[in-house]
Amino acid sequence: MAGKLLSVIVPSFNEAENVKLFYEELAKELQYSPYDYEVIYVDDGSSDTTLLELKELADMHYNVQYVSFTRNFGKEAAILAGFQHAKGDCAVVIDADLQHPVALLHELLAGFEEGYDQVIARRNRKGESLPRKVLSTMYYKIINRFIDVRIQNGVGDFRLLSRRAIDALLILSEGNRFSKGLFSWIGFEQKTVYYDNVCRQNGESKWSFGKLINYGIDGVVSFNTKPLRVCLYAGFIVLFLSLAYILYTFVEVLVRGVITPGYFTLITAILFLGGVQLVSLGVIGEYIGRIYNETKRRPHYLVKDTNIEARKRYEKNM
Ligand code: UDP
Ligand code: MG
Repeated sequence: MAGKLLSVIVPSFNEAENVKLFYEELAKELQYSPYDYEVIYVDDGSSDTTLLELKELADMHYNVQYVSFTRNFGKEAAILAGFQHAKGDCAVVIDADLQHPVALLHELLAGFEEGYDQVIARRNRKGESLPRKVLSTMYYKIINRFIDVRIQNGVGDFRLLSRRAIDALLILSEGNRFSKGLFSWIGFEQKTVYYDNVCRQNGESKWSFGKLINYGIDGVVSFNTKPLRVCLYAGFIVLFLSLAYILYTFVEVLVRGVITPGYFTLITAILFLGGVQLVSLGVIGEYIGRIYNETKRRPHYLVKDTNIEARKRYEKNM
């Protein structure tokens, strides 16, 4: 077992108060661990002094590496960068804000030792506001109905992946990355460990309500085309109902003659159909937008600054 390397991937966006604190906690936790570890901080275009803190930290500790983006590319891109730079036999993705207890690493590593390729940390939602709890429960109900892979409430990006799983993940080249879905998509033997929800100490959550809604939509449409199918079915049903209604009115006209010209029915029909069409168009637009983005084949992120290349050169010269 000696000499196994653990890569700790830490997406960090405006976490200046947290990056050093996190390292200290981590080092404390892993000091007696048989694993060697490297910490890969991914500075996701922070506007505070995160990068400065990271440079200081990297000067002090040899196992600290950082990759700094040119702007905020989002947590998904940061996670990807982490995996791409990780050299470990296994890697853990963990938040910089200490909301993911570092003590759980032992359990994650134990799962890895048992031979699991993915060890998933799942939290309860203790201490969260009721609306957020209700919304997230609803979200997972809906999303699991729509996508082919299973996603569980309380399961985030906090998990351990074996080298095999990382390599599998890196083969997936899609531009629109929805990690929760991708983790689930690659499969492998999985084990879940549980932990209590922790509230953030420093800084604030980067998820506004709007961001969460967008994330929810991405989750559904990044993964398959079922919403298109739903539109199709809705279209069929509406068409069928309209036909039935037309037939009914036609018969009524035949039997009773024209009564009042039906303004109400007309307007409802128009509005309803208009609504259905708009929804369908929106869904189609979502997918076309995605096709557009995929065809551009843009990189997921751009790197402004990193010490990883320098480290490699240094190691080669040794
Ligand atoms: N994060 C990131 N890029 C972003 C938003 C967040 O790298 O655009 C990082 C952030 O620094 C933190 C982790 O992702 O380490 C989780 O973010 P946050 O704590 O804001 O989310 P929450 O815990 O509220 O879900
Ligand atoms: Mg957090």
